[in-house]
Amino acid sequence: MKAILFDEFGGPEVLRFGEVPDPVPGPGEILVKLKASALNHVDIDVRDGVSRFNFVMPHILGIEGAGVVAGLGAGVVSHSIGDRVAVSYIRTCDNCEWCNRGQDNLCENRRLFGEHIPGTYAQMMLAPASHCLPIPENLSFADAAASLVAFGTAWHGLVARGGLTIGDVVLIHSIGSGVASAALQIAKSAGATVIGTASTDDKLERAKADGADFV
Ligand SMILES: [Zn+2]
Repeated sequence: MKAILFDEFGGPEVLRFGEVPDPVPGPGEILVKLKASALNHVDIDVRDGVSRFNFVMPHILGIEGAGVVAGLGAGVVSHSIGDRVAVSYIRTCDNCEWCNRGQDNLCENRRLFGEHIPGTYAQMMLAPASHCLPIPENLSFADAAASLVAFGTAWHGLVARGGLTIGDVVLIHSIGSGVASAALQIAKSAGATVIGTASTDDKLERAKADGADFV
């Protein structure tokens, strides 16, 4: 398959378009033919070499993506070829204390796509079946791919940890960022009042257009 790789740390010039062996799904894994890959700032950190993640060169960036199921490993009965899926960005062990508690975001053995293991800047990727989330027909591959980190982070903070509920007032700083934009949409959907701050007027105007009550 084709992928965007890098062999040494540096700026965008170290990225190259190359060929790597097609991945083959093992037991419990799904082969995803990627249709969209999202960009995150961590991609730059990994490429520049300022992240502390360990990985093998040449490396494939990309923490989040979406596509269709193109192959099923042994024992996978939850998905079918052609299913539209988004791939959850943390590959967990499903066997440590945190995974067993249902807090797999804290998995002791977690590996992130594009950071520790090959990511989504490629035509295909492997992921555990449990990490391949079905996406509805009315959600584009691009929107699904770009929703995982931002909406997952915002949901965890506002809802899972913060207990957001109708009538709450939410202050969102730097409301022009990806996570903050997701937080704004989640907070409004939950019936909260949103106050936003940002460094520029155009970001504040965008936040108002997206539903912020006060900026
Ligand atoms: Zn674990």
